[in-house]
Amino acid sequence: MPTKIDMAKFAKFCKDMGFIYQSSEIYGGINGFWDYGPLGVELKKNIKDAWWQDMVRNPPPGPDGQEIRMVGLDCSIIMNPKVWVASGHAAGFADPMQTCRQCKKLFRADQVRDILPEAEWVLSLLKVMTVGEGLYPQSPALNLLLRNCSWKNSDLAKWANSKGQKLAPGMALVRNTETTLQTLEDIHRQNADLQLGVVIGILSSGQIAMTACPNCGGDLTEPKQFNLMNETHTGPVQSEENKAYLRPETAQGIFVNYRNVLDSTRLKLPFGIAQTGKAFRNEINPRNFTFRSREFEQMEIEFFCHPDESMKWYEYWRDLRKLWYSTLGVKSDNLVPREQGKEELAHYSIGTTDIEYMFPFSDEPQELEGVAHRGSFDLEAHAKASGMAEKFAYFDEDRWNADAATRTTNSFKEWMKSNPPAEQIGKYQFTPHVIEPSAGADRFTLAVLCEAYSEDEVPDASGKAEKRVVMKFHPRLAPIKAAIFPLVNKDGMPEKAMALYRSLKPHFNVFFDDKGAVGRRYRRQDEAGTPFCITIDGQTLTDDTVTIRDRDTLKQDRVKLSDVRAAIEKALSPQV
Ligand code: ATP
Repeated sequence: MPTKIDMAKFAKFCKDMGFIYQSSEIYGGINGFWDYGPLGVELKKNIKDAWWQDMVRNPPPGPDGQEIRMVGLDCSIIMNPKVWVASGHAAGFADPMQTCRQCKKLFRADQVRDILPEAEWVLSLLKVMTVGEGLYPQSPALNLLLRNCSWKNSDLAKWANSKGQKLAPGMALVRNTETTLQTLEDIHRQNADLQLGVVIGILSSGQIAMTACPNCGGDLTEPKQFNLMNETHTGPVQSEENKAYLRPETAQGIFVNYRNVLDSTRLKLPFGIAQTGKAFRNEINPRNFTFRSREFEQMEIEFFCHPDESMKWYEYWRDLRKLWYSTLGVKSDNLVPREQGKEELAHYSIGTTDIEYMFPFSDEPQELEGVAHRGSFDLEAHAKASGMAEKFAYFDEDRWNADAATRTTNSFKEWMKSNPPAEQIGKYQFTPHVIEPSAGADRFTLAVLCEAYSEDEVPDASGKAEKRVVMKFHPRLAPIKAAIFPLVNKDGMPEKAMALYRSLKPHFNVFFDDKGAVGRRYRRQDEAGTPFCITIDGQTLTDDTVTIRDRDTLKQDRVKLSDVRAAIEKALSPQV
């Protein structure tokens, strides 16, 4: 992986292994919600721990080689609803939606183009049409819809009366075959070259320039704003006054605590505040396994800095965050940083880079993390809405003192009386700019699972090639770090193996297995992604050495029992 795979099959593998289960499965499940099984919970915890260790406790030096100051927070999921008014989430949560006039399903307008080419009815319809050469190899979905196409009306009519009935009952072509084909013919007469997206739009709506419903082939409404936040009520009585929301992102908890953190830690710019935690979005189309869920976990940093230095810090975080993924075993080829075009940027953003990953369910890379330069938008929004502007303005004492020789007074208040120009004041007193690297713990867990999955052949006990599934997790992320086996259950081997297991257990997640042939035990650990299997054999009893088998190379090294812990520790040390 990640070559293209059948996500349903992959989800079954993840379930069978205890990585991820559908939430409430025995009651038919619930769309967009997932549970992590015994291996999955360890994997996701290792991801969050690695992030916390490498970004919060031990971030690498900044652009000028200086130490980075970073602290953590753990904010409540439900906050005062005024937070969401100030942040802009309550006024629509920004995503325009389209509804199908036929089947009433809702779609996020910016996703229709990506979903449509994969819809079953489109794939079926393409078999009776001819499409020309592609133009935009960087976007397979768009590429398909923009290609010129040709068809025979008789084939379309036949399709409408057979496959179309079942796959696309909402399509105008299916509901009203003759009139729709006539409309298509009329439009075609005036435009010799018609693109597939336009033809599909006409066949779906019976008119020009409509988008088609990926579900039933019907026509979609114009994009409208919908609120994607999950509502709840605080207190036992449900009323408008106690309506509240489950947070759709962890970032706002950081912004509203910005002053508290400054006051309680006496941190100085530049510094970062980090938080991991659950976020909830009423996503319209949860899809691609856990990729788009309604409940998920984020790992977010808000990095506050002087506006003059913000571009430097933006570039620093953008590069560091990409590097971080590759230190955890994600191949650089599968990681694509994509700088958003001007037209995509949020109105307040000076720049945003999406770090995208080539998930095996898609032809195009998909967002793993967004690194956004948010300017002073968030702090200013809360300064205004809370009426506490003074709490959000930052006085840069170090810069002020550094320039002392250039002034006659060291009192900022006195100096202000001399009416200095705005850019001079802004050097010392300003609203900090914010760089936000915002990652998804579940999305990265899915990427790690996809990246790790591989199938190969290894010799069995008799030397015959045997197929194996092996999860090639980076040792830091592997749910189980080492498995300990007695080669046979006699001659004191189990006791020695148990003693080793007990000595390693306080330090790493290790697994003891004395059941079945040793080859079978190796296979089970390969599927779980355990990097090391340690076997206690006859030689251990005479010289206190064991074999350590490497999951990926299958190489077995003989090491002293007393060196086992250090060997595992070495593989687990961070590389950022
Ligand atoms: P997308 O465009 O994929 O919906 P977004 O741009 O809305 O994502 P952000 O608001 O920037 O996402 O959230 C930051 C990160 O949180 C994303 O990069 C992703 O890793 C994660 N994330 C966002 N929405 C979801 C979701 N529905 N399910 C799982 N993870 C999510």
